[in-house]
Amino acid sequence: MAEKSMERIVSLCKRRGFIFPGSDIYGGLGSTYDYGPLGVLLKNNVRNAWWKAVVQKRDDVVGLDSAILMHPRTWEASGHLQGFTDPLVDCKSCRKRFRADHLLEARSAEMKGLKEEPVDMRDVRCPACGGELTDIRQFNLMFKTFMGPVEEDANTVYLRPETAQGIFVNFNLVRESSRMKVPFGIAQVGKAFRNEITPGNFTFRTREFEQMELEYFVKPGTDEESFEGWKAFMMEFFTGLGGKADNFRYYEHPKEDLSHYSKRTVDLEYLFPWGWSELWGCANRTDFDLKRHGEFSGQDLSYLNQETGERYVPYVIEPSLGLDRATLAFLVDAYDEIDGGRTTTTESAKEEETVLRLHPSLAPIKAAILPLSKKEPLLGMAREIYGKLSDRWFVQYDQSGSVGRRYRRQDEIGTPFCVTVDFETPDDGKVTVRERDTMAQERVPIVDLEGYLAGRLGC
Ligand code: ATP
Repeated sequence: MAEKSMERIVSLCKRRGFIFPGSDIYGGLGSTYDYGPLGVLLKNNVRNAWWKAVVQKRDDVVGLDSAILMHPRTWEASGHLQGFTDPLVDCKSCRKRFRADHLLEARSAEMKGLKEEPVDMRDVRCPACGGELTDIRQFNLMFKTFMGPVEEDANTVYLRPETAQGIFVNFNLVRESSRMKVPFGIAQVGKAFRNEITPGNFTFRTREFEQMELEYFVKPGTDEESFEGWKAFMMEFFTGLGGKADNFRYYEHPKEDLSHYSKRTVDLEYLFPWGWSELWGCANRTDFDLKRHGEFSGQDLSYLNQETGERYVPYVIEPSLGLDRATLAFLVDAYDEIDGGRTTTTESAKEEETVLRLHPSLAPIKAAILPLSKKEPLLGMAREIYGKLSDRWFVQYDQSGSVGRRYRRQDEIGTPFCVTVDFETPDDGKVTVRERDTMAQERVPIVDLEGYLAGRLGC
């Protein structure tokens, strides 16, 4: 997909109420975004699909919703206070900031085949103005704030940079209250905050975002097998919800690049308009976190297998997915532009047409009810259908403009079905159901409509 298309996706998101720039009336606040009426539905649907697959459908995983603000010792134990840094450089001329590792990567890619030895930071100039760069400084990505009315070091707390730690500190409480036996998992969805040096690419990298994380606790020695299972799950999740398989691939982190806690990390990458980028990271965090929290809290976080008498600190497999990133990937994947339109029978023919081919379970609006006339009896019948269907799904009622225009408005926001109440409806009690992707139309009795849609939507 061309660069231009990303601009178009961003523009569609604003125009149709999926995603707005944050604090727009004040000129925006760097890389913050607000989800509009359709965006909030789409994001909820992605969240629910993940929750269903990871928690609801598995008897070995339970959910959690832990606090964003955590005891500051948490971040000492996890290593975030010391090590959650990115290497930062400033341009001495234009003052722009960059991540040194990103500049090095870009420079190495440019030099590929031209130079044998690794690229040195001294060879790198400011990509914006060509100016000289400062030495590298390590910059901690955690947002700091103060708890209570006094702003002093003793009251410093952090906005969590990942949801995972909330799971580790609750390990014993969840295990005991839910009587879980290893192997089992704890999942949660929630906000995380990182003071990213270079946010960008729309909602791909922001400073406030939502994560969907699972910590799956296993017996040491069984961790590699479990890792393989979750690795496969990541791909299945996206392709099962309509993602095009060719746009997804795995990336195995080389040993020398692994985080301090990780024995193995594999990312699921997506082919975004700007190139392949991390979507979902799966890490084998070993027993690092439970051991560290055990040490720092003085609590025993080991596990006793009652049947065998064995005691051990479980290993953890962590598939960690950004909800905003996942939502963006689904949007990009579903986005389709048809030059000249798909049909020549409407007044809107020959214009460029946009179709959002979202999986029915992700589509914000499941069906649109379109009366062909604003008068009775069509209007009343359409309203009644709307009332009935809205008990079960988000549906829209739209009576304005030609039916061709109305179809296009729904195609653009990914509505799988349009239900037209036409002039024959009062006589035969049937409506015309039109499908988004094939544009195929079928007459369906109103009495069967809900069941018919349920069957075709699968949700
Ligand atoms: P990156 O290399 O892109 O900075 P990361 O490896 O630091 O990401 P993790 O710490 O593994 O990311 O976080 C798990 C997931 O959370 C990522 O795969 C991504 O989907 C999401 N995520 C991380 N940082 C951000 C961010 N700044 N904005 C949006 N989503 C994010």
